[in-house]
Amino acid sequence: MSALQKLKEKYIWISYFSSAFELLQWDMETHMPKKGGKWRAQIIGSLSEFIQIQQTSDEMGKLLNEAEKEAESEEDKALVRVAKKEYEKFKKIPPELWGKFALETAKAQRIWEDAKRNSDFSIFAPQLEKVVELVKELSEKVGYEENRYDALLDFFEPGLTVKDLDKIIPKLRKFLIGVLEKIERADKPKDVFLGKFDIQKQKELSKRVLEIIGYDFDAGRIDVSAHPFTITISHGDVRVTTRYDERDLKYSFFSTVHEGGHALYEQGIPERFRGLPIGDGASMGVHESQSRFWENIVARSKHFWEFFKPILAEYFEDFKDVPVDDLWRSSNIVERSLIRTESDEVTYNLHIMLRYEIEKALVNDEMSVKDIPSVWNDKMKEYIGVTPKSDSEGALQDVHWAHGSFGYFPSYMMGNLYAAQLLYSMKKDLSFEENIRSGDFKALLDWLREKIHIHGKIFEPKDLMKRATGEDFSTEYFMNYIKEKYSEVYRINL
Ligand code: ZN
Repeated sequence: MSALQKLKEKYIWISYFSSAFELLQWDMETHMPKKGGKWRAQIIGSLSEFIQIQQTSDEMGKLLNEAEKEAESEEDKALVRVAKKEYEKFKKIPPELWGKFALETAKAQRIWEDAKRNSDFSIFAPQLEKVVELVKELSEKVGYEENRYDALLDFFEPGLTVKDLDKIIPKLRKFLIGVLEKIERADKPKDVFLGKFDIQKQKELSKRVLEIIGYDFDAGRIDVSAHPFTITISHGDVRVTTRYDERDLKYSFFSTVHEGGHALYEQGIPERFRGLPIGDGASMGVHESQSRFWENIVARSKHFWEFFKPILAEYFEDFKDVPVDDLWRSSNIVERSLIRTESDEVTYNLHIMLRYEIEKALVNDEMSVKDIPSVWNDKMKEYIGVTPKSDSEGALQDVHWAHGSFGYFPSYMMGNLYAAQLLYSMKKDLSFEENIRSGDFKALLDWLREKIHIHGKIFEPKDLMKRATGEDFSTEYFMNYIKEKYSEVYRINL
């Protein structure tokens, strides 16, 4: 057997353990009784360590080097390139450092929960300081060219650098703050999705909308969890979760479509890539572009509501008399809000910029942990125009820092930007609006499959976007999208 073949078999074998890991994780978030948590955390920790050891074994290193000489097809070359990059990166991190990182972030999560409950950042600060130190150490071990933060970005968005972000952000921020000011002077639409909505019916509606956008229920399922997520157990088993709020129909509806977008991506990655390092999405940002595409660009469009209103009325008949315009405008209410996960398309990226600037400063020793709340509040005031009254609705709202996931936030922004660029490119090939109005979501999905999904992780995001759209990445598309859409929603001139 060739080294390349052996390498593939080894990766597939390791992925069996990853699948078990994911399934346990899924169960923990959806069905596990509370008292099962302690033992489960041990299993998950051990499995994760086992997988890590397998992936970074010397045998893997040898196989990778031999396979590199044998790889001929583009696919095999990409497989070895992606695998080798990961292998070398993780090899540079000493196991003790990984262990310490896992331990301190697990602790940090518990302390963060406590701090958030008490709305007191000072409870979290000492542990977060430890996490930041470890994150800095990790970046140093992994290495970077210009900025320590680049090493972290590369975990989530390969190829993206501080230089790129610092070029994108100032212009985008100015634009968004301007849009926000103009929208504020316009009439605010009333929210027709508030009221009382039977949970069982919401569940049926969630299933229906997933089916409509092309989610394969023979290869997945939907359940309830505290925080919605998508998880891939195997090629034929990609699951999503959501959360229901009896008083607000928007929440479950759009979060279901969002996770559906992630799941469509996963279901569209070719089966022959599965278990291999190229069998994932291209990056967190590209993944987010898919979820945002379906959630914001499709499901929050006017044409979508033209199509979907009669279906919605099958579940909640009061909507029969609600004009399409009201459904559409209610889906796109812009507000100066404190919480990132509840924010709209206009303010969302501003929330991300604030976090990015704080992370970058922390990692580069330009700011200390104890100053986070005051910097946070100042930036909130400056960018979004509101000031948190407490740490729990300010600097303690996200779990990412407790997880040690520094460098993750920019992926959310990149996802929004990629999604808009994909839209304009798709519009050249399809009758986008007509497709949506007539419920032909397959046309959209087929396009995304061909341009994005079938490539798995073969290309880095910049390269993938260029191949998909024929152009270099640009933020202009997102700004145009916001201008066009919100001029119409708010009946103003942006
Ligand atoms: Zn997402």
